[in-house]
Parts: sequence; C-alpha cells; structure tokens
Amino acid sequence: MSEPQKPPPILIADHPALDFLNSVGAPHGTEIEWINNGAALLSWMTAAGLLSEAGASGIAESASTKDLDETAARARDLREWFRDLIIRQDGLSGWKLAPDEIELISRILSKGTYRFQLQPGDSDEAQLRLSSGYEINEAEDLLVPIAHQIADLLSETDCQLTRNCDGPTCTFWFTDITKNKKRRWCDMKICGNRAKTAAFRERKKQS
Ligand SMILES: [Zn+2]
Repeated sequence: MSEPQKPPPILIADHPALDFLNSVGAPHGTEIEWINNGAALLSWMTAAGLLSEAGASGIAESASTKDLDETAARARDLREWFRDLIIRQDGLSGWKLAPDEIELISRILSKGTYRFQLQPGDSDEAQLRLSSGYEINEAEDLLVPIAHQIADLLSETDCQLTRNCDGPTCTFWFTDITKNKKRRWCDMKICGNRAKTAAFRERKKQS
C-alpha cells in the first residue's frame, strides 16, 4: 500500500541537528512524521544533506526493510531524547549534559567510519573531485551522521541561540544565525505571517 504524499521536510533550523528535531511537527495543523519508516528516514536524510543519493540507494538495496524500519524507530527515539535534552537547556548559558548523555552520543559516533575518496571528474577536462562521507554498510550506520550533527550542535554552537519558534503552538526549533540575533519564527510562511495577521486583527478590534 502506498502512503499519502508527504510535503517536503521542513529544513529551516540553520543546523541539521535541529532540522532533525523538526522531522515531526504540525506546520499546517495536522501532525506530520517525516521519518515514520526506513524509506522515509532515507528520504529525509537525503533531503537534509546527511546522506548522498548513492548512499541512500545502496543501503535501500542491501539492508532489509525490517532493519531499516527498526533504525527509523531508533532515530525517532534518539530525536525525542534529544528534544528533552534541548528543552532542558532553556535559559542556561551553556550546554549542560550528564555524563551518560555524552556517552550515549559518543557510543553511536564510535561506530562510524568516515572515508575520503579521490574521484575522476565528470569529463576528461573536469577536475578531480575529493568526496567524503560516512560509510553506510548497515541500517544502523544511518544513526552516525545524525549523532555527528547532534554532537556538532552541542560542541560548536551557542546554547542561548538555540530557540523554539515564537508561534504559540509551534514545536519547531532553530539556531539563530542572524546578525542581530532577533530571529523569532521557524518560517515567516508558517508562523510569522500567522502572527502578523493575528496582531492585525487584534489592532482592528481595538480601534
Ligand atoms: Zn513556528
């Protein structure tokens, strides 16, 4: 049975780890789970730049549907664990993790193999290309690039700039990389305009 077509993933977070957090949400009222099974996880990771097209088709062929679906379930567990962690950091001046939380991410990272490869150019005149990426030999290897992004967020970004959208019911997160550090919305099209319209209506009512 084919699934109903999902809208493209919401990739507005300015960091892949937070895009991962936003892989479930209800931008238009009804909740959408972008990684509900193994195939969906591969599509989401490819769209989010965490997996190459070749890597996705390779693992789709070599791994069983059961293993891929199980990995998607583990990814969802990891995501909700990560959400709790992010919510708990609210108001802190720096990331604060318990040793067992650091260990959980490190354990996934330790399973990864990252390889560089020199490749011929697309034509005779084209320059050689240096490509790199994680080896994805088994379904569970898919968790490594995700854990890498979580580790990157926690080590390279400012905790105080990771924020939840101001939309009253919005569950989307982003890291504020704007110059004036005043980003409020996940996306103008999703929550920004909605808030503007509500404020406009409120003003009209009062006048
Ligand atoms: Zn929002």
